[in-house]
Amino acid sequence: EKFRTGLEKTRTSFTSKVNDLVKRYRKVDEDFFEELEEIMISADVGVHTVLDIIDELKDVARTRNIQDPAELKSAISEKLAQMLHKEGNDGSLNIQSSGMTVILFVGVNGVGKTTTIGKLAHQLKNDGKSVLLAAGDTFRAGAIDQLEVWGQRADVDVIKHQEGADPAAVVYDSIKAAKARGVDVLLCDTAGRLQNKVNLMNELEKVKRVIQREVPGAPHEVLLVVDATTGQNAMNQAKTFGQSTDVTGLVLTKLDGTAKGGIVLAIRHELDIPVKLVGLGEKIDDLQPFDPDQFVYGLFS
Ligand code: GDP
Repeated sequence: EKFRTGLEKTRTSFTSKVNDLVKRYRKVDEDFFEELEEIMISADVGVHTVLDIIDELKDVARTRNIQDPAELKSAISEKLAQMLHKEGNDGSLNIQSSGMTVILFVGVNGVGKTTTIGKLAHQLKNDGKSVLLAAGDTFRAGAIDQLEVWGQRADVDVIKHQEGADPAAVVYDSIKAAKARGVDVLLCDTAGRLQNKVNLMNELEKVKRVIQREVPGAPHEVLLVVDATTGQNAMNQAKTFGQSTDVTGLVLTKLDGTAKGGIVLAIRHELDIPVKLVGLGEKIDDLQPFDPDQFVYGLFS
């Protein structure tokens, strides 16, 4: 149900166009596929991905001898679900059953990193885990305060230094505190300034090295947060970060705020990074594990 509500904008735009298309055509032909292609591109599915989907749908239509547009419509949702079911463990986070789990969050400013950390802290607490937050974005003015606000909402503590401090030192202290308190999950925020990419990537590497040194096997997840409303920008950020840090999963935020939810398909098809979580609103409960079937249901029902 969360997916249905959260994907409403995409669904209204995408599904209504597909329905309209199905009504207008008597049989599945070249023009039909061309229009379908345009509809998908306008939902930000991404040209590359769209062409692959259309090719596969044409195959399906040929081999099953489908002429009726309505019949092809169910093949469309089948195809999309299949595509999302690709390899990778979408949706599930690598949370250790014993010992401390460390999750590192990366992503550019404004994508919803702090919000996601707050939401996830809340969820983990509801699951009976103890959680600590590390205020590793010491660069952006207000970032530490904002994380503290989320810490209060989720009722978890935040370890912080002054603005401008070394993020690796913040994370080091947070690990020490987490160990001393026997915390289950440590969620680490990081800076997201893009003005100086090389410095940012070096900083993230340094933070990661500290985590690796202090907690064997950690970080257990490096989650890249991207804003779905930015469409192809989100894709480019995923490519950039994916190259320089070992991203283990994606968080796609603000799916509720866009008619271009198709970006999920593009990212899933064109990159080899699983989608772990999706943000479907601004409230503390508006974070969901990514579920391919529910996603397609939310898109099409
Ligand atoms: P950060 O700079 O990456 O830490 O971004 P923030 O966490 O401060 O979020 C930036 C803005 O996006 C805030 O106004 C959030 O309320 C909003 N936001 C974050 N996630 C979502 C989401 O899933 N849906 C919607 N509609 N807004 C979101």
